[in-house]
Parts: sequence; structure tokens; C-alpha cells
Amino acid sequence: MAGPMTRAELETGVLDDPGGPLLMLLGAVREMSERRETGAAWRQGDRYRDFLEALGVAVYTTDAAGRITFFNRAAAQLWGRSPELGEEWCGSWKIYLPDGTLLPHGECPMAIALKENREVRGFQAVAERPDGTRVSFVPYPTPLRDDRGELIGAVNVLVDVTERTHAEKALRESAEALRAANAVKDEFLGLVSHELRTPVTTIFGNARLLRDRGERLPADARESMIADIAHDSERLLGIIENMLLLTRLESGPQPELEPNVLAHVVGKAIQSFSRRHPGRKVTINAEPRHVIVEADRTYIELLVENLLGNAEKYSPQGTEIEVGVSARDGEAQVVVLDRGIGLSDVELGQIFAPFYRSEEAKRQANGIGIGLAVCKRVVEAQGGRMWVKPRSGGGSEFGFALPLVDPGDLSS
Ligand code: ADP
Repeated sequence: MAGPMTRAELETGVLDDPGGPLLMLLGAVREMSERRETGAAWRQGDRYRDFLEALGVAVYTTDAAGRITFFNRAAAQLWGRSPELGEEWCGSWKIYLPDGTLLPHGECPMAIALKENREVRGFQAVAERPDGTRVSFVPYPTPLRDDRGELIGAVNVLVDVTERTHAEKALRESAEALRAANAVKDEFLGLVSHELRTPVTTIFGNARLLRDRGERLPADARESMIADIAHDSERLLGIIENMLLLTRLESGPQPELEPNVLAHVVGKAIQSFSRRHPGRKVTINAEPRHVIVEADRTYIELLVENLLGNAEKYSPQGTEIEVGVSARDGEAQVVVLDRGIGLSDVELGQIFAPFYRSEEAKRQANGIGIGLAVCKRVVEAQGGRMWVKPRSGGGSEFGFALPLVDPGDLSS
């Protein structure tokens, strides 16, 4: 026979781990109903009902035909309604399986317990209240028998596991997010290592050759090796600079904004690019010439270098890159135009996402897909905006706009 239970045991035990204490409770209820003298009292409704009411756990009973004979306040709360006595099987408005399938009342665990005259365990369901809210619960339907062992009804305890279900779901989701983040991290590390190794291999190889056999090499070979070292060091620096900015711009110091003549800064960046890529024609069209912006000079250079670098990577040698600087609609605008691989509609939505690279881009050139993400953040950190669109006649237009400074404001 089940021993007496304290309220503390019920409160802590039943809710945290319904298994043990709950089975004791059900045992106690069954005992009450099976003993002749208490069985009568049970059916009349007296202190045993008070006992069930005081539990704070949803409990209800039915007769052998499944008609509800008693339910406590906690059950009515769980169901969100008070059923009429005599309603069949269960007082909930609607019940679903955890996968969302509607469960007819006649097939609910309590109905099975009564129809098959056995306890039903290991079941979880979701009750929908008339107000539309839902509660996940674990039922413990248990047949009640009289002293001759005849089925006289059943008692069911419903344990609200909504919070536990939510916590489990959140745990599953965060485990899934962690797995996904790890996969991204692995992919990122693979990509970055590859991108860093390529220039370092050139720098290291050339430097070693120059050290060991430099004096014996013809002058033009030496010069070309040194040029390669300079070119690949610059590429390395570009990657590292972008990576640092990608993390820093989220939380780091804001850019130092000061008035700058936009065409001047853009022109400097183009000159630097042209020194490194003498074979590529870059033209600048600045109209009006003295557009002044409130911006960080280093950031503008970094923007233009990224956009020119992409135009160089993704358009055929020999085609021209055009840069435009203008002032319109209250903002200063810079556009970089190429006649390269162009952009699909799908790409336009993703192009500024970190690590995004199109399949065509992967075929054309190396990269890790952070340059444009950095550009967008750099522009936005200066109060500007960035865009990309296909260029009529083929190729792409990448542009950014920054707040314009009225020259009148500077002299006053
Ligand atoms: P990366 O060049 O290292 O891939 P970016 O962030 O600079 O990284 O560019 C992201 C992607 O945007 C590229 O992989 C490519 O798919 C696309 N893209 C960038 N610039 C151009 C361009 N000028 N023409 C066509 N596609 C471009």
C-alpha cells in the first residue's frame, strides 16, 4: 500500500519528476476507491475530493463508461474550461498528439485506459483551450476497481509539462544552432587558411630564393620576384584588414568623421590601385569636382580599394573600370562600374552577407566573401548606404553614398 505523502513531497516530487510520487498518489487513490468503506465515501464526494482539490495537480475521475464524475480546479485550469459532469473521457476542448495530429476524445489515453482496463503510461499530448492557448501535458490514466476487481471507473492525473517541453525545444534548437555555427566555423577556417596560405607560400618561396640564390639570378627575375612579394603581401594585408574590420565594426570605436574632398580621396585610391595593376584602365568622372563628405578618409580608401579589387577580379582583363563621383539627392555618391560577370537576381539579396560567394565568382577568382560585408558596414558606420545593381549593357554597378557637407557650413 502506498504510504502517506506530505504536501511538500507532492509539490516538489510530482512536478519535477512525476514518475515516483505520482505513482504513489495514484496508488493512494486506487486504494481509497477499492476499500469498501472509503469507496462509498469516494463516490459520494467528501474529504477525498478535498484531498484531490488540495493537491494543486490536475486530477479527474470518470465512471466505467468514461463519464466525468469529478475534476479539481487545477484540471479546469489546465483545460481552460469546466466540463459538465457526465461529459465523456476528458474535459479538454481539443487534444493533439505532439506532432500536431488531432486526437479524438474517444481515442485519448483515458479512453484507452478504460476500454482496455489498464494503466496508460509514457504518453504526451497537447491540450488546446477554448481561448486558443495550448498546454503540453503527460497523463497518467489509471483504472479504478472495486473490491471484487470489477472496473468502476478511472482516475487521471495530468502533469503540465509545457515549460519542460519549451525548455527541451530551446535546448534542441541551441544544440542545432551550435552544430550549424561549428560547421560555419570549420568552413570559414578552411577558407581563410587557404586564402592566407596562397600568398604566404609565394612570399616565403620568393624570399628564400632571393636569400639563397639572389646574387646569381638575373636582375629582371629578381625584380619580378620582389614585385610578387609586394603584391601578395598587400593581398594578405587586405584580407587581414577586412577580417579585423568585420569584427571590430560590430562593437568597436566609431569612425572618425571629418570633412574630406571625396574625389581627392577616391583619386588617391585609384592611383594606388593603378600602380599595382598597370595593365588595367581605370577612369574617374567626378562631377562636380569638389564634393565634400563627412567621412573617415581611411575608410573611403578601403571602400574604393575593395570595389576596384572586385572589378579587377570579376571582369576580363582589357575591359575598362569606370568610377563616378557625384552629388545628388542630398548625398555624395561613388559608383564603380565594370563589364564583368554581372549579378543574378538571387545574388542581389545575398551579396552583402559575410562569406557569400557566387558559383561563378568561385570559378573566376580566390576570395573569402567578406569584402562587401565590410564595405557595407563601413559605409553604414559613417551614416551612408550601399547598393549594387546590374549594369545596363552587362557587368555590375557597385555604389555607396555618404552624407554631403554643405561647403557653406565649413566656412561659417
Ligand atoms: P570575395 O571577392 O572575396 O568573394 P566580396 O565580399 O568582395 O568577397 O564579394 C562577395 C561576392 O560578391 C563575390 O564572391 C561575387 O560573387 C560577388 N561580387 C563582388 N564583386 C563583384 C563584381 N564586381 N561583379 C560580379 N560579382 C561580384
